[in-house]
Formats: sequence, structure tokens, C-alpha cells
Amino acid sequence: MTAPLVELQGVTKIYRLGEVEVPALRGVDLRVELQDFLALMGPSGSGKSTLLHILGLLDRPTSGQVLWEGQDITHLNGWRLAELRGSRIGFVFQMFNLVSNLTAVENVELPLVFLGVPPRERRKRAEEALVRLGLGDRLRHRPNQLSGGQQQRVALARALVTDPALLIADEPTGNLDTTTGREILTLFSELNHQGRTVVLATHDPEAAEVAKVRMRLRDGLIVEVF
Ligand code: ADP
Ligand code: MG
Repeated sequence: MTAPLVELQGVTKIYRLGEVEVPALRGVDLRVELQDFLALMGPSGSGKSTLLHILGLLDRPTSGQVLWEGQDITHLNGWRLAELRGSRIGFVFQMFNLVSNLTAVENVELPLVFLGVPPRERRKRAEEALVRLGLGDRLRHRPNQLSGGQQQRVALARALVTDPALLIADEPTGNLDTTTGREILTLFSELNHQGRTVVLATHDPEAAEVAKVRMRLRDGLIVEVF
């Protein structure tokens, strides 16, 4: 039996704001197997983003363990964690988070800069990723010259250009109209069918329908899996 791609064991997260403690996760166990497609649901404030950030190695738990391919990486140093994240995980956000003064292709190149890929190869791979997402005619556009749906495709190309094992998306359709949102969800579905492991957070039941498994969070706990 092979280990899950990523596993959380008894993960808690408490944010400290001065004297005030905000419990965001209160003991989450979660296994993400290769080729899974999970949707995290639940109301605003239930802990979806916090969970995705820990799963995506953007943040650390207050207590509990994070295992990557069976290895406990909870206390891995920041650089090693960043390296693992940069090479194995792609992240897509609700607000696209593109760099506004860079072109589409330059945005998509960024993760490859971090990985030390030489410029010529970087450019080639970024262009290919954008072409695959139907943006071959928008390579030199800047984010403010693109529609919301196109910007989210650029963000998706940026997440995929490193060929990550795990694709994480936090409310990826939250800023898109219904039709455009559906197109983006269809892309996630296709990516999963091609073998990509996907975890997304959404409060939209229709968006969660595209996933294979849905998990409902409430007050920092997974309360339902269906
Ligand atoms: P969701 O994504 O489901 O809306 P979040 O994970 O963003 O939930 O938030 C869970 C809880 O943690 C909320 O009570 C929220 O206010 C709190 N929280 C989230 N991020 C921070 C932060 N950086 N500092 C303090 N509290 C936070
Ligand atoms: Mg959130």
C-alpha cells in the first residue's frame, strides 16, 4: 500500500491577534490520495482557506502533523518546505493574484524562475501552458487587458507549469460569472480526469458537484463527507 500524497493528522490552527486567540481548525484528519478530487465546503469562516494553506504548505499547523508521501514534514525548515511547495504544488486563488505589471507569459514563468529553470526553457514551457488553456493569442497581455475568466486561466497555467502533483484552488470561481465559472470548473474536471490530484474550496454547491468527494467544514472541523 502506498502512502497518501498528503495527509493531515489532528491538525489544529489557532491564529493569535494580540491577546485574542482565534481557533480556525480544531483537529482535522484528512488523506488526499493520488487522483482524488476533493471539494471543501462550508460557510465563510469555517476554516476552508486555513486548511488549504496548510495542505498547500503555505502555512504550518499549531499542532498536529502534515505528511507528504508518508514523510512527516511538519517541522521541515522553511526553505525545504518552499522547495517542496514550488515543485509539487500549484495554487489558484479567488482573486487570481497575478502580478499586474507582468504579461501573461511572464506571470506563468514565475514559478520556473524560482525553480531555476533557464530563461529560454522557461519561456517555452510558459507559452505551452497558456496555449493548452486556450490563451495562445493572449501571451503578451497584462492582467488588466484580460477578462476575469482569462485571468483565472493564466493563474491556472501558472499553477500547472511546474507539472505539480497537487493542484489546490481556493474559491476559484468566486469572482467569475456563472458561465465563466463553469468553464473553469470544467477545466479542473478535465485536469482530474487526466490524473491530476485536485483539492478545491467553494461555498457553491454547484461547484462542489464537479468533485468526486465533498467534505463539509463547520467551525474548524470536517463534519460531513459525501
Ligand atoms: P473560510 O475560508 O472557510 O472562510 P478561513 O480559514 O479563512 O475560513 O477562516 C477561519 C477562521 O480563522 C475565521 O474565524 C477567520 O476569521 C480566522 N482567520 C483566518 N485567517 C486569519 C488570520 N490571518 N488572522 C486571524 N484570524 C484569521
Ligand atoms: Mg476562504
